[in-house]
Amino acid sequence: MNPAPGQTPLLDVHDLSVTFRMYDKTLRQHNLQVISELSVTVNQGEILAIAGSSGSGKSLLAHAVLGLLPANATVSGRMLYQGQELTPSRQEQLRGKEIALTPQAVTYLDPLLRVGDQVRGGNKTAAVTAQREAFQRYDLQSEIEAMFPFQLSGGMARRVLVSTAVLSGARLIIADEPTPGLGADIAQDMMNTFRELADSGKSVILITHDIELACAIADRVAIFYGGTTVEVAAAKDFTAGEAALRHPYSKALYRALPQNGFRPLAGFQPYAGNLPTGCLFTARCGLKTPECNKKIPLRELRGGSVRCVHAT
Ligand code: SF4
Repeated sequence: MNPAPGQTPLLDVHDLSVTFRMYDKTLRQHNLQVISELSVTVNQGEILAIAGSSGSGKSLLAHAVLGLLPANATVSGRMLYQGQELTPSRQEQLRGKEIALTPQAVTYLDPLLRVGDQVRGGNKTAAVTAQREAFQRYDLQSEIEAMFPFQLSGGMARRVLVSTAVLSGARLIIADEPTPGLGADIAQDMMNTFRELADSGKSVILITHDIELACAIADRVAIFYGGTTVEVAAAKDFTAGEAALRHPYSKALYRALPQNGFRPLAGFQPYAGNLPTGCLFTARCGLKTPECNKKIPLRELRGGSVRCVHAT
């Protein structure tokens, strides 16, 4: 979904870079750039799916937006929420209220607080009906609200985390891999919830490995590789076929889907400490030319955007 002309995106991340200060065995300090020039926007009422393999920067983006990066991280670039800069104090103010995270690690639940209390947050009486409805929807038995997190299975804890985000009333929900460990019906119901939230005017960032799942409910899909955005496309481009996509990596992901012949791509994503100059996909790309060794900007193409000099 594109914003209406003149409409400000709810979230606008532009040229985000994240570097960690690290120490080697001899305590020598070095910097590890894990995200470079990453750009995405999320509009009101849309689901933006973010796909890419582990280490591509998906979860780090979520943590950068929420101001949850560790103290040894340095962030540069621009992050705007409703057109205003996301400063650390604003992040703290918005976190859990305007912007809610469904984290990948279920350890984010408070171990000392009963599940029902943490799902309802501060709104203990008014939210009890909504909490019970959410639990019923995600197949969480009524006795679970009185349990502590250590008594939950991984799948149950994940459903509790999604219930918390849904009940928070946030305008932007960042769901980081919300479906692993869930049965197909519950996973589908969760996806339907995100679609309903978006249709009611909320926005959702859905971080996932599962492109097929993402395309079924998302409006747009951003593909990350090596800590940067290589393509942003309408979700329908991923179902229209390889020719509708722009970047060679997106096309490779498409060919690797079981229904498209399951043709995996050889090679690996580059390690953050050993990135090539120029295009990060060079080592795996059959179309590379000397021009690919230069800095490659993200550019607009056919209604989406792509970081490739040869994409047409
Ligand atoms: S810039 Fe070059 S190496 Fe990179 S994806 Fe495009 S063609 Fe391949």
